[in-house]
Amino acid sequence: MSGTDVLRLESVRKTFGSQVVLRDVDLAVPEHSVTALIGASGSGKSTLMRCVNLLEGIDDGAIFLDGSEITDPRADVDAVRRRIGVVFQSYNLFPHMTVLENITLAPRRVHGVGRAEAEARALELLDRLGLAAKAKEYPDRLSGGQQQRVAIVRALATGPRLLLLDEITAALDPVLVGEVLMVVRDLKEQGMTMVLSTHEMGFAREVADRVCFLDGGVVLEQGPPEQVFGDPQEERTRQFLSRVV
Ligand code: ADP
Ligand code: MG
Repeated sequence: MSGTDVLRLESVRKTFGSQVVLRDVDLAVPEHSVTALIGASGSGKSTLMRCVNLLEGIDDGAIFLDGSEITDPRADVDAVRRRIGVVFQSYNLFPHMTVLENITLAPRRVHGVGRAEAEARALELLDRLGLAAKAKEYPDRLSGGQQQRVAIVRALATGPRLLLLDEITAALDPVLVGEVLMVVRDLKEQGMTMVLSTHEMGFAREVADRVCFLDGGVVLEQGPPEQVFGDPQEERTRQFLSRVV
């Protein structure tokens, strides 16, 4: 096994009842790389990420984080989740907590970081994302784009090895999408390893090192964006791209 893959999926199978939602999924995510999952609604993108974060168990195959199998029943689920930051389509900020409290909650409660240190780190991250002035605000005082950027800061606050971003711009007003995508670009520049799902094909093409097309729970095609977007090998990929681009 390559020592530089942060994440690896090997022959992952996931079913819900009689429905096979992921079938024989292989995926390797090298350190500092960005992988974009694309595919129609229901193709399994969210389920794949939920399996990586151990929110769902898998039926067969294995998932490795930094070379150790996290789907092993003896794996420490909390320890795994601490190393993976997740941002979903809906920001899921706690409405009764300020921005700063939202961000420092996990470092303080889960990681045992002291308040001063957690707040200093949160403010540094907020500053980097142009949100330092919002630290004491409650989420409902922020725009959707700002809330989603706070959710990204919150996911980064624990210093994760891997960031999973599941359609993080899908719920946003189109004028706010850009500011969130800018953050993802910055994170890529800083070397953050990321797996994201998106319907923004232009963005996937630009930011991803690898694009993975899921079709009915099967990885039908994967490769560099120039290849998957520019010269898709599968008819189903061509059909999908002709619908969304
Ligand atoms: P995507 O994110 O690509 O839209 P999902 O991973 O959300 O796809 O869904 C893949 C398939 O799994 C869909 O058919 C969906 O209905 C099904 N599915 C997802 N979550 C559950 C669940 N908790 N129980 C049953 N079926 C589910
Ligand atoms: Mg989804």
